[in-house]
Amino acid sequence: MASRESLAGPRVLMRRLREVMAESLGAQERLDEIVTQIAANMVTEVCSVYVLRADGMLELYATRGLNPDAVHEVTLNVGRGLVGLIASSALPLNLPDAQKHPAFAYLPETGEEVYHSFLGVPILRAGRTLGVLVVQNRSYRTYLDEEREALETTAMVLAEMFATGEIEDLATPGADLDLNRPVQLAGAAFTEGIALGHVVLHEPRVVVRQMIAEDTDHELKRLDASMASLRLSVDDLLARGAEAGHGEHRDILEAYRMFAQDRGWTRRLREAVENGLTAEAAVEKVQSDTRMRVGRQADAFLRDRLHDFDDLANRLLRELIGRPHGPLEGELPDDAVIVARTMGAAELLDYDREKLRGLVLEEGAPTSHVAIVARALDIACVGQVEDAVSLAEAGDAIIVDGETGNVHLRPPSDIETAYADKVRFQARRQEQFAQIRDEPAITRDGVGFQLLINAGLLMDLPHLEESGAAGIGLFRTELQFMVVSSFPRLNEQQAYYEQVLKAANGKTVTFRSLDVGGDKVLPYLRSQVEENPAMGWCAIRLGLDRPALLKTQVRALLKATAGRELQLMFPMVTEIGEFERARAIVEGERAHLARHGHDAAETVKLGAMVEVPALLWQLDELFAEVDFLSVGSNDLMQFMMASDRGNTRLATRFDPLSPAFLRALRKIADKGLQYDKPVTICGEIAGRPLEALALAGIGYRALSMAPAAIGPVKNMLRALELGPLSKRLATLIDEGVSASDVRTELRALAEAQRIPV
Ligand code: PEP
Ligand code: MG
Repeated sequence: MASRESLAGPRVLMRRLREVMAESLGAQERLDEIVTQIAANMVTEVCSVYVLRADGMLELYATRGLNPDAVHEVTLNVGRGLVGLIASSALPLNLPDAQKHPAFAYLPETGEEVYHSFLGVPILRAGRTLGVLVVQNRSYRTYLDEEREALETTAMVLAEMFATGEIEDLATPGADLDLNRPVQLAGAAFTEGIALGHVVLHEPRVVVRQMIAEDTDHELKRLDASMASLRLSVDDLLARGAEAGHGEHRDILEAYRMFAQDRGWTRRLREAVENGLTAEAAVEKVQSDTRMRVGRQADAFLRDRLHDFDDLANRLLRELIGRPHGPLEGELPDDAVIVARTMGAAELLDYDREKLRGLVLEEGAPTSHVAIVARALDIACVGQVEDAVSLAEAGDAIIVDGETGNVHLRPPSDIETAYADKVRFQARRQEQFAQIRDEPAITRDGVGFQLLINAGLLMDLPHLEESGAAGIGLFRTELQFMVVSSFPRLNEQQAYYEQVLKAANGKTVTFRSLDVGGDKVLPYLRSQVEENPAMGWCAIRLGLDRPALLKTQVRALLKATAGRELQLMFPMVTEIGEFERARAIVEGERAHLARHGHDAAETVKLGAMVEVPALLWQLDELFAEVDFLSVGSNDLMQFMMASDRGNTRLATRFDPLSPAFLRALRKIADKGLQYDKPVTICGEIAGRPLEALALAGIGYRALSMAPAAIGPVKNMLRALELGPLSKRLATLIDEGVSASDVRTELRALAEAQRIPV
């Protein structure tokens, strides 16, 4: 480690740079002055800045020592020459004899042939290379580690200067900066819509404006204090566990704690401050170094941890600026597209729906709850988009294509026009669906279907009328609980359900009792940290153990449906006894209301959701008890395949069209026929036309889905001849062919019959 004395050089340089940044200079003059100061301070004969352009070329933007006529004239391909190598590898190069390096490329225009030693570092911001900073000497000199550090620190100052747009005017027309380059990113489509809007970072990057310290000792104190409160806040998060409502999983929190306690991290941060940076700039510098080291590793586990480290560094920055929680300054634009690494369903609900257009996630899966909420909010959502957070800047123009799963950052105008056309085309398609809105959902061979919507918020309710659905097949009551900060009281719940029923205007509504746990966390309902919350203390389990909660909800529902029929189902039933106990609670509440002369539901129909595979072997007993069943295929699939519905890596690994899953679903539908009791299916597969075709083929006649899916599914059904399809599908399922064979064959059948899927 360098002693305090040997750090005087970098500190003096930082002080000089601070003065240069404060002076009112033109961009070129400022760059020229910066390279002059660096050369003087580091006693080098050359100092040059190369900037990465959108066309992949590195252009010489300023130099001290090389031929001044080469500025804005000399360019290099990324990957060519030593400068190109630094840009492509994002790693520094320190060479006593540069000309001996195999990548050395001789550029006669610069007059650099007389220089031997070479030290170059990448200019990085949030993991992106923006350019290269180089110093050179005639002698065969080996630059010290401290000198490399100092040059890297200076490169950060340049990165900030570039990011603020100051050098934009220096770009020659047609040779734009890479920083503003349009980027297309591929991900997975989570919802169907298309959104054009502007980026809002869910965890906004803290913009470090002041890089260079005025008082190093003061900065060290600030750093120590913020580190201490960061450690406390991570411990606190861990103690509160996943129920903290940040969508963080325990392993991420454990990683936070490990990094927060890491002595190496603290030491590197302190060193960077001792080199003349502010505490904030030190956090950025050390993070940039870490990214460089770890980002090169092939190990996916380590790269995942790097994300965690990025998050933690961002938290530390927030501690430093005194805004540890919540969004930073800045209003939500009217066409906000939220960009996040990951997010819980409740956090998405925190945003103003009126202003939300889209959501881009680096992680997630189409059946994760945040994706379901995005669908309920009818916003375009694409997930599994690598590097979205580091490539996007707040305020960037962005297009989210929920059809192809593509995301366009800073799109060129022709792409923007093409998308505007696409949006218009979609609107026309919606008009076509609107035309069949009042037509029955009936196949060509006369089989009728009941198409229902999934809902959970008051704002969903107009969709019932617009889509022409027959009713609400799944009303997720927990969403109301997730958007408020304390437990809704009896009369609040009752008023809410009354509004739902009023909006339904006589159409059926199937309420589901509170389904919390997993990523549906209620901030005010404290629970123990669980290793596997999705399989933990949740849904009906929680309702039965905390009967007061369930009783209040049931009472509110009974009162809201006074004089009418209440349809209520319980989530995650595993044993018949649970259903019986839940029913006893409902009966108890009915008796209580009757005793006290309150109006209540006239009839009550109680159902169970089939989400836990164990129920498949208790169907006879279950049908004897229930009035109806509803298959929650999202959970049934995750538990049958032992495959976390929110895990990105598993999102497409198992196909619900596999004979194994279809056999399970068929068994439930068959039993429903046998016992003459209604069976609905309300997981996400019911809303995808090809999957809905398969469900129709195995006997489902009531499908509940996102409102936007009603049109496409009805369109499919009206073109379908069900008889032959059912026969063919039965053979495929019985033969036990692969899931992809089922999918391919169904698609071919649909094409042959001209069924839109
Ligand atoms: C399901 O599991 O399929 C379901 C409909 O419930 P949720 O998605 O709310 O868990
Ligand atoms: Mg479920």
